[in-house]
Amino acid sequence: MGPIIILDKSTLQTLTRDEIFFLNKYYSPNYIPVIIQEVLSNIRRFPDKRKSEKIAASLANKIKMFSYRMNTQYQDVLIQSLLGNEIQSYGRPAIIGGRSIENPSGEKGIIFRKSAEEDAIDRWAIGDFNSEDEKLAIRWRDSIKKIDYTVIKNQLEDIWSNLPKINSLESLNKSVEQIIHNPKIQKDLLMYLIYDVVSRVKNELISKMLFRWECEQNPKIKEFAPYAFYCLKINLLFELGLKSGQIGVKPSNRIDMEYFYYLPFCNVFSPRDKLHKRLFPFVMNEECIFIWGDDLKNEFNEMNAHWTAFDELGKKEFNDKYRHAPPNNENSITTRIWSKFMNYPEMLYPEPTPELSKENEKKLVDMINKKREGKAIDRINSDDADFLIIESTISYDDQCTCYSGEIFGKCCGKRLF
Ligand SMILES: [Zn+2]
Repeated sequence: MGPIIILDKSTLQTLTRDEIFFLNKYYSPNYIPVIIQEVLSNIRRFPDKRKSEKIAASLANKIKMFSYRMNTQYQDVLIQSLLGNEIQSYGRPAIIGGRSIENPSGEKGIIFRKSAEEDAIDRWAIGDFNSEDEKLAIRWRDSIKKIDYTVIKNQLEDIWSNLPKINSLESLNKSVEQIIHNPKIQKDLLMYLIYDVVSRVKNELISKMLFRWECEQNPKIKEFAPYAFYCLKINLLFELGLKSGQIGVKPSNRIDMEYFYYLPFCNVFSPRDKLHKRLFPFVMNEECIFIWGDDLKNEFNEMNAHWTAFDELGKKEFNDKYRHAPPNNENSITTRIWSKFMNYPEMLYPEPTPELSKENEKKLVDMINKKREGKAIDRINSDDADFLIIESTISYDDQCTCYSGEIFGKCCGKRLF
């Protein structure tokens, strides 16, 4: 469990399974809905159906090689932000949903079942594609389809037409900053944000958003809904970027922009896309680090060369010494990132999880099952929960969770198969 990382599809595609072992060992990947959509779009990429499915299956396989979380669709986080339920902390995956329960002993908790997207990844990884995927594809295509900006364009046209000429990304950023901080148009900007989510929420929730804004005496959006404010900046960078020619009009740029909405939910962003590289400095502060996908790949490649040169004893000694933390190597990007986010190396190496006896394992499973038998209650916040149960699956061929480098079926999961 290392710093939270978001990869784009291209970086994921370029990493081999051996390299992904190190990704999962030293980072916690946060897979976001747009990458799933991109995997899905591969199913129909080539006329040869089997070839297309093979590519999609290979990507799905890489995602599910190790326990992972999938971030909630950003519009749903945005809706909560506008309603005043701001996410508690940045730099980790935003997972909304789950069933809040209270069990007979009075403990409150949240149970997160696997999402439809996570179930789909499990199926695709074993080459199982069905008609449901068609429906998912449509659902996802709907959710990322180009937003119709014409309404808002009219509202903001006056302001836009009075902007100084945009001839660089710096001047684009400056204009966007001027717009989003302009006290006279905060209501227009709020409507613009609401327009983005209007198809996903009931009218009464829209009223709630507006009512809250009025009750708080028309505050600036930055204070009113911080995550929504962040999304506003992304939207306007894209819209004004297109308008001024600073961002090209190819359709994939719309999908690439989508990654930016998720950057508050990671520590490290590692794409292989020029648009990401150009815009990143205007979008994130130093709370998120940018690593070019090829540099990340080189790093994992070197780690793998080092690792495979060990004999069995050498591997064991290395693991006993460092557990799942990286060796302290000043030339390594990973070491630098751990120093920033993991209190490394002061934190020193985490204790290994003790091996469970059969008896203790049964006790643990019983305890979890007992906890989940509760009655449904109104939604609680994860910070107020006594426990969280997050369901996940692991297969024979997945990377073992003990970081031995073995596959699960031949390591800790041996007796299950
Ligand atoms: Zn193991």
